[in-house]
Formats: sequence, C-alpha cells, structure tokens
Amino acid sequence: MSINVEPLRKILELECKKGYVDSAVIGGLDRFLRNWAGQAIESIANPQFLSRFHKLHLVNPQYASLTKQQRKEWVNGVLNFLAEMERMEEKKGEAKPSPRVKRQITTAHQSIDSPITVIRGISSSLATKFNRLGVKTVRDLLYFFPHRHLDYSQRKSISRLTEGEEQTIIANVWQAQETMLGGRRSTEAIVGDETGNVRVVWFNNPYLAKKLPTNTRMVISGKVGLFNGRHVFESPEWELAEDKELVHTGRLVPIYPLTQGLRSRQVRRLMKGVVDQWAWQVEDFLPPELKERCNLLELPQAISQAHYPEDEAGKDKARLRLAFDELFLLQLGVLSKKRDWQESQPGSPFRAETSLLETFLKSLPFELTAAQQKVLKELLADLEKPRPMSRLLQGEVGSGKTIVATAALLVAAANGYQGAFMAPTEILAEQHFTNISQLLSRVGHQEGGGDYLNSYSGLLPHPLTVALLIGDISQVKKQELQQHISAGDIDIVIGTHALIQKGVEFHKLGLAVVDEQHRFGVTQRSALRQKGFSPHMLVMTATPIPRTLALTLYGDLDLSVIDQLPPGRQVIKTKWLKPVQRDSAYAFLRRQVASGRQAFIICPFVEESEVIQAKAAVAEYERLSREVFPDLRLGLLHGRMPAAEKDKIMRRFRSGELDILVSTPVVEVGIDIPNATVMLIESADRFGLSQLHQFRGRVGRGQEQSYCMLMAQNPSEVGRQRLDIIEKIQDGFELAEEDLRLRGPGEFFGTRQSGLPDLRMAKLSDVGLLELARSEAIRLFEKDATLEKPEHHLLTKELARVWPEAGEWS
Ligand code: ADP
Ligand code: MG
Repeated sequence: MSINVEPLRKILELECKKGYVDSAVIGGLDRFLRNWAGQAIESIANPQFLSRFHKLHLVNPQYASLTKQQRKEWVNGVLNFLAEMERMEEKKGEAKPSPRVKRQITTAHQSIDSPITVIRGISSSLATKFNRLGVKTVRDLLYFFPHRHLDYSQRKSISRLTEGEEQTIIANVWQAQETMLGGRRSTEAIVGDETGNVRVVWFNNPYLAKKLPTNTRMVISGKVGLFNGRHVFESPEWELAEDKELVHTGRLVPIYPLTQGLRSRQVRRLMKGVVDQWAWQVEDFLPPELKERCNLLELPQAISQAHYPEDEAGKDKARLRLAFDELFLLQLGVLSKKRDWQESQPGSPFRAETSLLETFLKSLPFELTAAQQKVLKELLADLEKPRPMSRLLQGEVGSGKTIVATAALLVAAANGYQGAFMAPTEILAEQHFTNISQLLSRVGHQEGGGDYLNSYSGLLPHPLTVALLIGDISQVKKQELQQHISAGDIDIVIGTHALIQKGVEFHKLGLAVVDEQHRFGVTQRSALRQKGFSPHMLVMTATPIPRTLALTLYGDLDLSVIDQLPPGRQVIKTKWLKPVQRDSAYAFLRRQVASGRQAFIICPFVEESEVIQAKAAVAEYERLSREVFPDLRLGLLHGRMPAAEKDKIMRRFRSGELDILVSTPVVEVGIDIPNATVMLIESADRFGLSQLHQFRGRVGRGQEQSYCMLMAQNPSEVGRQRLDIIEKIQDGFELAEEDLRLRGPGEFFGTRQSGLPDLRMAKLSDVGLLELARSEAIRLFEKDATLEKPEHHLLTKELARVWPEAGEWS
C-alpha cells in the first residue's frame, strides 16, 4: 500500500489550527474526504486498517454537522490513525523488502511526471491526441486547465425556468425516443419534476434515446429556448443523477481546449478522475509562510479548484494561486539572472568625476531636465558600485537620453575605461557619432579627425577619442579602427552590431550602452557583455514599456525613466481622417512642403511578407509620384533595399533633397529630421498604439508646429478605439498601458518574446499580483540567496523545471 497521507494530514492540522470551523479546505472537509478516501481505500490491503478506516467514517464523516467538540475528537482520531499507518508503512519497508517493495517501486515510478498512459483509461492512441495539445505527463494534464467554465450551478424547478439563461434541472424521464429533427436522426425526451414537464431535444444524437429509459433520474443543464410557445432544452448537457459527483451539469462545468478526436464529455470525465486521483500528489513548492502571508491556496487545492471549482470564489482563488506561481517563478528566474550577472563577476567601480561632469554639463546649450538629472544620479550611483550596472533607461523619443548616456561614457573614459555605444542601424550610429562629437567639441578642443575618428584635448589628461565603427566603412579603415580599439587608443566606440562581431576586441571595456533595446535580443546584449570584463551595462529604449511588462521581460535590469520632455516641446496635432478627406490631406501636405517643410508617408501595413510589403510600397510610391505629387521630390524606403541604399535615401531626406519620404512600416525611420512636420499614416487603424506613437515621434522635433494624419478606411471596433485614443493622448507611457490593455502582451512587441515561460493563468495586466510576486521573490533571495536551504528544496526543483536553461538550480 502506498498512499499519500500528507495532504490529508496537512489539511487536518490546518483545520485544527483554525479552530475546527471547517475552513481548511475549500468546499469543506466532507467533500475533500470523499475524494481522498475513495482513492485511499483501494490501496489499503491490511484488513485491520480497513476496518478502522471505516469506523472513522473517513469516506463520509458528515463533519459539517458535527459539534466543535465532536470535530476535535474526530480530527485527532484521524491524525492518530494516519500516524499509525505511516509507521506501519515504514516498518514494512524495513522488514519485508521483497514483493512489497517491488510494488512500491512500480508505484514510485508512477509519479506525476510519468507519461499520461499510466492513467487508467488513457490508451496510447488517446495519449497521442493529448500529446498534440502539448500534454505529455500527468503533471501536464493537471495543468491542462479549462479555458473557461459554464455556470450551470443555478438549479431551477421546471415551472420556474426562464428563457435564455443557463439553468439546471433535476428531472425524471417520462419518455425518450428517437426522432427526425431537421432531417437528422435525433433524440427527443419529455422530462418532469414535481412542478411540471419540459421537452428536451438532442440533435443528431439518436443513440441517447436508448440510454434514457422511463423513470431515469437525470440532471440537465443548458439554456432554455422557446418552440411553438413552449420551453425546450436544445442539446443541453446531461448526466444521470447518481450518487457520484456531477461533472457535466449542475455546477461550474469546465470547457477544455479540444483537438480532433477528443470529445468534451470524455475529457471532462477523464479530467475529473485525474484531478481527484493525482492533484493531491502535486508537491506544493511554495514555502508555507509565504502562502500564509499572501493568503494563497494550497497547490493541490488550487489545481483541483481550477478544474472543478466549488463556486466562483473558489475558481478565483485557484487562479490567483496559479497565477502567482507563474509570476513568482518568472521573477525568481529573471532576478537570479541579474544576480548571476552581477555577482559572478566583480565589476569595475568608477569614480564619479564630478568636476569633469560639471564642465561638460555647463557646456551644453540647455540645462538638464529634472528627470535627466535624477536618472544621471541613478547611473552614477550604479557606476560607483563594485558590481556591474545593469539598467534599463526608458524615455520618450526626444526626452534626451543621449546626453545622459554621453555623460556616463565620459565618466568611464575618465576612469581609464573604454565605452561602447551600440545603435540598431548605421544611420542611427552615425547620428549618435555626429551628436556626441558635437557635444564634445563644445568642451574639448578638437584635434583633427573626420568621418570615423575624432579626438578632443583639454578634457582628460590624454586626448579623448571617439570612433564610429559600422559595416559601411572600408575594410582597411575597419581593421585600423579595430587595432586602435584593442590597443586601447579609443575611448568611446559608437557602432552597430558590428561592435559585437568577431574581430572587435576591447582593451578595457568598462561601459556598454545599448540604444533602442527592443531591436536587440538578449543574446546580443550578452554578446556585448562578453566583450568586456563585466562592463557596466546601460540599455536604452524609446518604446515606453508598461511597468508590468518591463518587470517581466527586463526584470534582470534596474529601471530608470526619463518621464519628462525638455521644455517647449510641442503637442503634435493628431487627426483621424475619413477616406473622403484624403484629398484635403494631400493638399495640406502640399502646403507644408510649399512652406519649406518635409513629410513622411507610411504605407499600409501588409501582413504577408516583406517582399509583398516592399512591392506594395513601390506601387504606392509610384502612384504618389505620378498621380498626386508629380511636381515634388519623393523618396522611397523599404526593408528589401540594401542598407547602403537606405542610408543614401535617409541622408538625402535629412539634407532636404527630398520633400516626401514614402516608407514601409518595417523601416522605422528612427532619426532626427527637425524640418519634417507631417506624418501621414495609411491604414492607421491596423497599427498598435505604441507603433503609431513611434511614427508620430518622427515629427515635431523642430520649432515648427507638426501634424500627424491618420488614414483609416473601415476600422474595426478596436481600431476605432485606438484612433480615438491616439488622437487624444500624447504621452507614450499612457499609450503603452492602453496598448497593453487593447492588444494583450503577446502582440505588444509585434512578435512573441522568446525565452519566457508560458503564462497560462497570469495576465500581465495583473499589476498588483506581479508586484507581490516580485517582492516575494526579492524577499526570498534576501533570506536564501542561493536557494539551498532545505525548506526551499521543492522550489529549487520547480525552478529547474520551468527555467531548464538556467541550469544553476539543480
Ligand atoms: P532621445 O535619444 O531620448 O530620443 P536625444 O537625446 O536625441 O533624445 O535628445 C533629443 C534632442 O533634445 C536633442 O537635440 C538634444 O540635444 C535635445 N535635448 C536633450 N536634453 C535637453 C534638455 N534638457 N533641454 C533641451 N533640449 C534637450
Ligand atoms: Mg535616441
């Protein structure tokens, strides 16, 4: 006999602690015991135990109706019994190793990590069908949650049935027969209770008639309709009213995701058995004090209630526990990555170089905003620490992130370290190079230099050198730069991903800045890290990421936000235009060009592929050039063009040789064109809010009033909502939250983020729960940094399961 008494003992102990008020388990002890005892009884071979088992009325104790004193006695009796059972179990293990042990070993092999074929009733062909849904082990099956529940808990007598609601009746079959309905063989029945009769039909199911002889007592759940003025149930859920627990009717009934060959009744029945039998064997990996503090259900209970909830409250509590688990494990994962990164290698503490910074900041033609100052302080505090900085800097387009990064790069250089500044495109790298060079020339004295290399004296004891390393430069030049970099002659290297390619060896990389984070994957981030002896790392993004997502996706980074734009920034007038307004939009654009401004036109979003997208863009460009703006200078930009070609077009646009830039949405024109004042977006309803905001951010960067025109043919409801929102809201973070709300996190970045464990129960909009999970994860690491304490053993095991690649857990 191998029966797990642990769950029962825990529950009884809890019951004891709570003062015998029948609150230890959702649904009450009686119900729990029916399940537990039904399963236990099969495995008790010893007749003596069996008889005691019966005497204790474990199968049906009617605990709910006992007095407090009786409850206390009963609970203690059962606890004693369990202890004895366990003692016997141990003795048996020692005394009689042979046949018994063999049986134990087989059962030990049947853990919840066994393939689902160990479950009675799951054949290998059924298993294949489940495999198709990603369900391989018993555990997978336990975590195979219904996507929703039908509420059939509302019991009605037949005379009180109302149309249109989900209701349940318990009734006797008067007569059931096969019949033709709509040309198909079907079943029709008349059922009744003490208040009346009602007709029930099951379309396309003639066999049912035979299963329902007269006087069968059955439970029927579904919506009631009207036929010829009388109530009728059409193809409702049904089951026989036996002593067994209801599965299909009369309660919250789970609706499972199905695949071909899996029928819902079959899955439901099967899942009921699986949950009753196996859920109690899932080990609860959360430390008890955490569960108590956060008021979370026990894991077996949560799993059981997630499938077959007692009521709505039970379902909610189950979801809360399971969602907490997901977020908590996720946070433990990301935080441990951060810890590894920060603690496995010592970082290089920098001196803050206050006077150099003061000189630099004084040389700027403006004062830092309060937000910039705050963030710079945060950076400096990180840089002074002996462990590498790992920080995400968020700030709207134009909020002035570059200045802050430049200040940090200066500090690195002054400390004798090199700095790297990585941008997603060549043109952006060039722009940074130009901007940073300009900033430095205000404080330092430029000593020659040129397209790829500038050097400034008067700032540091040695001349400060800045280099641009991009794919576009000649091989000879590149090699020369690489040599200088590895010799340590260059202080600040600005470039694209060319920076992380082979051949680039830094002499002493101390700070890596990554701009526009969302285009770089985690691997690229770490490739850059490998280049240095654990450099400080600053990741910058202009995509406002809602806090919940930031904590989840970039939980390994600390978060800084520049939440303020430099003074005097204009509001970009944003308008959603109907198709009939197209001509006036073009006329407006033309007037802007006539007064010396420039414009962007973003082509409609085409789903199929980049090739088709490029074709569509070419067609649009030709149409506009020929039919609409034949007298203006248009340029075209799409993703299929060679990088050099793209850069050429961008440069022409920037220098004012082009009036209008027609571009596909894939090409994010992430560049400063202060003279551009019009952004016209086609099929604007098909873009996410954050993307629309990014497009809009391309204009309004100069002094002139700027405009964003949104064309939309026939927007869907959600599209309409988005257009309304973008018209009204200018703030990127507010928009990001709205975007998350409207689109869900999966689509937030356009593609699914890889490397993230599945979130089935948790929603990223659960801000409160996410923050709770994070603070609990931090608390746990404070108490047990390596999670090696015995009480965290189960948790470590669970982490190894959900973050297998992390490795260090097991
Ligand atoms: P981001 O990288 O955050 O999009 P940038 O750093 O490129 O923004 O700054 C955008 C523009 O604003 C630049 O021309 C920069 O010189 C200017 N700028 C930055 N900080 C300030 C400030 N505090 N006051 C005025 N202008 C600023
Ligand atoms: Mg920038």
